[in-house]
Amino acid sequence: MTDIKELLFSRIRDVADYPEPGVMFKDITPLLADPAAFTALTDALAEIAGRTGATKVVGLEARGFILGAPVAVRAGLGFIPVRKAGKLPGATLAQAYDLEYGSAEIEVHAEDLSSDDRILIIDDVLATGGTAEASIQLIRRAGAQVAGLAVLMELGFLSGRARLEPALAGAPLEAL
Ligand code: AMP
Repeated sequence: MTDIKELLFSRIRDVADYPEPGVMFKDITPLLADPAAFTALTDALAEIAGRTGATKVVGLEARGFILGAPVAVRAGLGFIPVRKAGKLPGATLAQAYDLEYGSAEIEVHAEDLSSDDRILIIDDVLATGGTAEASIQLIRRAGAQVAGLAVLMELGFLSGRARLEPALAGAPLEAL
């Protein structure tokens, strides 16, 4: 592992059986509280934004906001929040997706995305890929392009990467 990866890895706390039995929650608050680690993560994600030719950053609620906003500032790009349904006050586009039990919906302000945009999507954890898949569909439906998806970590055993392959259509998925 590189020094940066070791630093980031060392600042992620595993919390067993949270928020429910059987889940190993990846808690990034120790990383956020460490300025060296948070800066290293922001720099690494901003490098991806530059390399993929992104024109805007989309952050997925809620930890994607914390990671995505400083990346947008560092890369000189705009930031767009993709929120859980019912939180945005303006005219929205919505995308529903299936959860293990039931379904969920995410929304974006329609006016934030245009056909000129290439979007880098940022979140902390890629698990099943359901949230990321819905956000890709939302961005495409708004007429924008997906430059890529960047996450701090990927839970490989949940096969999110394979699920996202068709939706990404060749756009990179980068897991630090
Ligand atoms: P998914 O749609 O299954 O890929 O889930 C991704 C979303 O759920 C992300 O926004 C993550 O923040 C959160 N998430 C899923 N699993 C975990 C986990 N084990 N630890 C922390 N966050 C998780």
